Amino acid sequence: MSDDRFEGVSFMLAEMYASLDAARQVVYRTAEMVDAGVPAQRESAVTKLFVAEAVWRIVDHAMQVLRGIGYTTDFPVQAIFRSARLMRIEAGSDEIMEFLIAREVLKEMKS
Ligand SMILES: Cc1cc2nc3c(=O)[nH]c(=O)nc-3n(C[C@H](O)[C@H](O)[C@H](O)COP(=O)(O)OP(=O)(O)OC[C@H]3O[C@@H](n4cnc5c(N)ncnc54)[C@H](O)[C@@H]3O)c2cc1C
Repeated sequence: MSDDRFEGVSFMLAEMYASLDAARQVVYRTAEMVDAGVPAQRESAVTKLFVAEAVWRIVDHAMQVLRGIGYTTDFPVQAIFRSARLMRIEAGSDEIMEFLIAREVLKEMKS
């Protein structure tokens, strides 16, 4: 891919990669804490919130790169798009994760 001709797409790819890389690091950090038996309630909520939003951003960019064709059932992106949106609702919605994080942060601030 030529950087000159597809600069806009390359920015989206860079954002997708940055989101994926950051999401991986957050997952590994929390997994290490859980493996070590360290309490990780706040970090688990941060992970669920951050990863679900990162997946949503990544798939949204994938849809944008593919444009109209990505919306058709000829490509799997439209199905992933729907599943990615569910990640922000199921097993504790974004708002519930924010509630849990805020509760832990406020507890720490008061102690
Ligand atoms: C396809 C699918 C599969 C599912 N699979 C499972 C499963 O296997 N096991 C299981 O247990 N559940 C499952 N669920 C349920 C899922 O976990 C719930 O849909 C989710 O927890 C949200 O609950 P709710 O739909 O009752 O929405 P509500 O709890 O009514 O929430 C509605 C909205 O209000 C917000 N909200 C709610 N309470 C607060 C609050 N206190 N402060 C701020 N905002 C708030 C929520 O974030 C949400 O945006 C599944 C749901 C779907 C759609």
